[in-house]
Amino acid sequence: MHQNDYYEILGISRAASAEEIKKSYRQLALKYHPDRNPGDKGCEERFKQAAEAYSVLGDPQKRETYDRFGPEGLRSSGFEGFTGSVFEEFEDILGNFFGFNFGFGGTSRQARAARGRDLGLAVEITLEESAAGVEKDISLQRAELCPSCGGSKARAGTRPSVCPSCGGCGQIRHNQGFFSVASTCGRCRGTGEVISVPCVECHGGGRITHKRTLKIRIPAGVVDGVRLRMIGEGEAGDPGAGRGDLYVDIRVKAHDIFEREENNLICALSISFSQAALGVTAEIPTLSGKTEKLKIPVGTQSGEIFRLKGCGLKDMTRHRTGDLFIKVDVRTPADLTGDEKELLRRLAESRRENLDRLDGGAVRRKSSGPR
Ligand SMILES: [Zn+2]
Ligand SMILES: [Zn+2]
Repeated sequence: MHQNDYYEILGISRAASAEEIKKSYRQLALKYHPDRNPGDKGCEERFKQAAEAYSVLGDPQKRETYDRFGPEGLRSSGFEGFTGSVFEEFEDILGNFFGFNFGFGGTSRQARAARGRDLGLAVEITLEESAAGVEKDISLQRAELCPSCGGSKARAGTRPSVCPSCGGCGQIRHNQGFFSVASTCGRCRGTGEVISVPCVECHGGGRITHKRTLKIRIPAGVVDGVRLRMIGEGEAGDPGAGRGDLYVDIRVKAHDIFEREENNLICALSISFSQAALGVTAEIPTLSGKTEKLKIPVGTQSGEIFRLKGCGLKDMTRHRTGDLFIKVDVRTPADLTGDEKELLRRLAESRRENLDRLDGGAVRRKSSGPR
């Protein structure tokens, strides 16, 4: 089986309905659930694959991305496959299908160790940084396992004792018809253990919050509002459980000159009437810091748009580079001296332009575009 073909993993056609996807996943998950196949690594692998496939195909948006761009497309849109913790999340989904906790084979299960919390923060970058990609140092407060007790919450040299209410299994079971239904033990909150002598360092919490500085690599072409996921950079979980993830929201600051539209940049170029009429060469700054020469031809109209190919931004996924569009804005002088007014009058005369009246022939339909 191809590792990444989610349709094959779930044994469905590419045209399967949402209902079929869910049904197929449910059957596979039940068949390969580790509780039914204890110690069988092959089944565990199949179970994880099915969970991963369902997490994509069960989400209409992710499914569309997958159909169009394949697994690569998902990765570039921030989907990173799975870490160990997904296992636990999907057990929850299965639990929800049936409305109660799993109890296959009648064995008691200890409450599973909780995964660390996810963290989120926002990073502001400039448009130049978004164009080239950038590495940023970010600081955050993050809970780590207590170095003194290693997360056990018990004072060094002491051990947690077995919960007297549930006998260490973490669950209290009740029989209900054919089913045996389990509820979490209230005394130990499912851990099966109670701490008799709490750790001095973390006061029995098991975790300590530290300030951490992380380097994050922001890829070229990132747009405002993109959320990057850094797997395992969230808080520490219970001992043995996965860490949370860190979500970084990227904000791109507004630029003084350039406006962004997808991969293209847009700016305005102010020129005078004479420059528009006679032509001129303009120096256009670009995001890379290089200046590009742009020839404004004779007889350029106000609103005309010129293009510098390849001077836009790189696409994050498809590696194309956009263009820079320059919209010409012809300025009308408002501070003419007497002599200059005279010159313009003579120009108008030579072109037989009437400076007293403009007849109806000059009125036309308002153009819809900028031209
Ligand atoms: Zn401690
Ligand atoms: Zn208990």
